[in-house]
Amino acid sequence: MSTPLYARYPFLEAARQAVGELGVDIETLIAEGAPAVDRGRERVERALLAGRVDAEEPAEWRDEDELLSYPIARILVSLLDSGAAIDKYAAAEAKTAVQRLEKDFEAGDDGLKSTTSARLDRETVLEELDLSTAIRPETSHPSREPEWFRVGVGSYLRLASGDRGDSWRLVNREVVDGDVRVERGELFALLRTAIRRRIAAGLPFEGLTEGEGIVEPLEADLAELRRLLSERTVVGKIDFVNRALFPPCIENLLQKAEDGIELQEFESFTLMAFLTGIGMEADEIIEFCENSSLDPEGIRYQTEYLKDDRGTQYPPPSCETLSAYGICHNEDDHWKTAGHPLAYYQARLEASDDDLVDWRERQSQLSE
Ligand code: SF4
Repeated sequence: MSTPLYARYPFLEAARQAVGELGVDIETLIAEGAPAVDRGRERVERALLAGRVDAEEPAEWRDEDELLSYPIARILVSLLDSGAAIDKYAAAEAKTAVQRLEKDFEAGDDGLKSTTSARLDRETVLEELDLSTAIRPETSHPSREPEWFRVGVGSYLRLASGDRGDSWRLVNREVVDGDVRVERGELFALLRTAIRRRIAAGLPFEGLTEGEGIVEPLEADLAELRRLLSERTVVGKIDFVNRALFPPCIENLLQKAEDGIELQEFESFTLMAFLTGIGMEADEIIEFCENSSLDPEGIRYQTEYLKDDRGTQYPPPSCETLSAYGICHNEDDHWKTAGHPLAYYQARLEASDDDLVDWRERQSQLSE
């Protein structure tokens, strides 16, 4: 295996050893503010904001920076001192890893399995996760990934736990000789859980003290990440959709998308976080944004990550952050009314004398 592969899958045990073999000292990297530190902060920031950890500008980083950014991201997320941040970070790392695995396995389907050292094959990842005996392909073909797999019942129950829906319940599965049959797509869902647990294991690191040692040079990065995290404070439960009362920042984003303009990642995150924050489900948002540049798959992907494993809703960024990103223009000076788009919307709902109708109610009347 090689550095490019470890850079893509830094949670592998061999990647950890490779970091040691690079002969670089993490403490020195941090003290010198090396590129890996910036990429480590980006990793955590993207995990918190977008539910993924791949670089926004991959060409900016060397494989070595990418690999070394992983232990630095783990230090940063430990210092945030938040179980929710760790859950979110581990889920984002796992999500990105599985997206890469899907591509690598597909390449294996084309018979390209061993043409690049940056690609990970199924056998290696199962071995790494101690699942090589528990998960086996139902059939084997030299150059094509099988469609069905058998998973030992014990491993299945461990990995399929949680709120996955009825189709995952053992009573609804085909069990053959003590194994549960799963489709290829379901296999990736199970691998995602296994990788997420692997990444969360050992976090947070103990013995890191604020203002001392390696923590001191990270203070500015930490302050920024804490600010993003603090914006998770939920404004109050809103379950009402009325576009006429949306704050200008959100209305502008909607109009931009409806004009067919591709939203930047932070913009679509803000919009999705607002719409889920006012009580909309993914299907409703898809319908609401039907005539826009937003695609249903992207909407589902983002809304899925706007709830953490504990079901906490991830709200949109504050007015201050939206202003820093150029999304807020503080129209009519209404920043004075509320520091948060959800708070602003809530205040407008409460102040409205009109007989307001929920957009969802109108839609269901139209479909009757
Ligand atoms: S002040 Fe806040 S709610 Fe108003 S447009 Fe700016 S970000 Fe949106």
